[in-house]
Amino acid sequence: MEENWKVYINGEFLPLKDAKISVFDRGFQYGDGVFEGLRCYDGKIFKLEEHMIRLFDSAKAIHIQIPLSHADMKKAIKETVRVNGFKNAHIKPFVTRGYGWKLGLDPRNTTKPNIVIIAREIAESMYGEASKGLRLAVASVRKIPTACLDPRVKSVGYLINILARAEAIASGADECIMLDMQGYICEGSGDNIFLVKRGVLLTPPVQFGLEGITRQTVIEIAKELSIPFHETALTMYDAYTADEIFVTGSGAGIVPVAEVDKKPLGGGKAGRITNQLIEAYAEVIKKGEPIE
Ligand code: PMP
Repeated sequence: MEENWKVYINGEFLPLKDAKISVFDRGFQYGDGVFEGLRCYDGKIFKLEEHMIRLFDSAKAIHIQIPLSHADMKKAIKETVRVNGFKNAHIKPFVTRGYGWKLGLDPRNTTKPNIVIIAREIAESMYGEASKGLRLAVASVRKIPTACLDPRVKSVGYLINILARAEAIASGADECIMLDMQGYICEGSGDNIFLVKRGVLLTPPVQFGLEGITRQTVIEIAKELSIPFHETALTMYDAYTADEIFVTGSGAGIVPVAEVDKKPLGGGKAGRITNQLIEAYAEVIKKGEPIE
């Protein structure tokens, strides 16, 4: 099946066996690049414009000039889904600083940025079975402080998130909760986090984690449904005393949490507000940009 996949590399669609990038690519050598993760539902790409804005802003923030216009990048993303014949897909566009033929970190010693777009057929949450009730565990690995790297940059350097996730998996959980250096809840390794306490929806402000597009969608839905909502700094105290918790992400969707640090939550089932949001989200995702 995978043999038939076509991958976009710098303007060409290549079969999987030829979809290769040089070992001199700075993304490979140093994690010097940015990426996005989008979903296509029933032939329509969800929040394409928002993902493009974040991709171009991420690149700009680390001084990479994407060699495609915003419109051409959108076109390339749609085409990648189309040439693969997918209706429901996860799409990952990558932009790296390019090839660094000369030795060393100097960002001037690079060719023009490399663009890769990978589409995979996927219909449900990337958490699969675990999405019925996710088990979270707090990670000892902390989030990189904003003074080092602004969390709004969706850089390809996910090592810290991977280590935090591995720690959670080793403890029998599915996903982690990452804290900042002061102990405030930031996000998961690949998703944002929401709590519900006494009927109020809570999430950390954007400076704590990635400015998630699903997160923003949930906030908009909550407003429409008149669900009380606050952006506020949260600690594990709030997680342990929450009535409901869920995580959000393009790949994940809205996923209810059944357990935090092995302590069950909500009897293992999605809570009332989580369910309300899941239902409304299932409607909103139908309103994407058609690939045809
Ligand atoms: N936080 C992190 C660290 C992520 O990698 C992601 C996306 N996978 C998210 C949050 C969720 O962002 P979005 O809703 O835009 O997919």
